[in-house]
Amino acid sequence: MPDVFADLVGQDEAVDTLRRAAASAAALLRAAHESDADDPDGPADGADPGAGMTHAWIFTGPPGSGRSVAARAFAAALQCVHGTGCGECPGCHTTMAGTHADVRLVVPEGLSIGVSEMRALVLRAASTPSGGRWQIVIVEDADRLTEAAGNALLKAVEEPPPRTVFLLCAPSTHPDDVSVTIRSRCRVVPLRQPPAGAVAEVLVRRDGIAPDVAHWAAAAAQGHVGRARRLARDPEARQRRDAVLAVPRRLTGVGTALDAASALIEAAEAEAEASVAEADAAERAALQTALGAGGTGRGAAGAMRGAAGQLKDLEKRQKSRATRAQRDALDRALVDLAGFYRDALTMALRAPVAPVHTDTAAMAEAGAQKWAAEGALRRLEAVLECRTAIEANVKPQIAVEAMMLALWKG
Ligand SMILES: [Zn+2]
Repeated sequence: MPDVFADLVGQDEAVDTLRRAAASAAALLRAAHESDADDPDGPADGADPGAGMTHAWIFTGPPGSGRSVAARAFAAALQCVHGTGCGECPGCHTTMAGTHADVRLVVPEGLSIGVSEMRALVLRAASTPSGGRWQIVIVEDADRLTEAAGNALLKAVEEPPPRTVFLLCAPSTHPDDVSVTIRSRCRVVPLRQPPAGAVAEVLVRRDGIAPDVAHWAAAAAQGHVGRARRLARDPEARQRRDAVLAVPRRLTGVGTALDAASALIEAAEAEAEASVAEADAAERAALQTALGAGGTGRGAAGAMRGAAGQLKDLEKRQKSRATRAQRDALDRALVDLAGFYRDALTMALRAPVAPVHTDTAAMAEAGAQKWAAEGALRRLEAVLECRTAIEANVKPQIAVEAMMLALWKG
């Protein structure tokens, strides 16, 4: 039976660290129980129960490497009744299913996590764990905390309640992602980009995907496990990727470059809209139901005034989430495009590495002939500059147009 770490693809070193930490966390709990039982000799086995465990962790790694998968698996191992992350006990089960009473997951819906959300969370995390083990707070995308929210978190991390564990996920420990003070209080678990072979293996084993499809998808997704699974299963995701990879062939002049820019932005918008539409509608319906329950009694006028504020809040949150979804979709397209020019570059250099996109390898080879290594490199850099510009809040339309012109001109 696979344990809770089974889906952490190609991360042997990190898994090893987390297993040892979970074991020493379990030893800490046992030691605490023994001293509660008034054992004058303390823990009997003489092991140092605290050695591998600490109260604050940061999981870093590129998108798709499994930061949140690792955090959740570690949380399960901490709540596991055997202290191992067996995958079968109620502690493991409820944590993996997201229903454990002592595990809280913060997923930023918009561009950042707000201070009020963080304060409420920190407050609840300070309470005694109802299951008798640990209170755990997982913050996905800790790099999207606002400064104020980061400060609220820092206070808790600096003076942690005895049984509370913070698990943060971020792309890196760069000060842009995680403040230096928070970083200094945490143990870092670096995850690497999993090799394509390991990703393909898990797609076959866990998702039942045919081996040839799994290998193609794993290479095309460049180590992003979730993206590989989508490519293998979702025909629309494949179509979107095909459209992006058709761009290099279509760039024949200024006009087509600008058209390609608009098409790329519009495709990202459409993809983002589809991904948030369902959640938006469900939230609006829930709010309307809640407000409809106000009735016409004495409190109704006050309720209506409150309703306007709630609606405005909801719209703001949804708009922020839509913006994030759009950026994520555009970024996926840019990563695909970068993979193509990387293929052209490695082919021009005759480097002995497998192409990212096996299905456009012939086109990349033609590009390699035409542009030589320098031309391919300039184009790769244009794509990467576009990503950086959008991350730095340059308007996507402007950044993508500049990139398309650079890709056309070389
Ligand atoms: Zn278990």
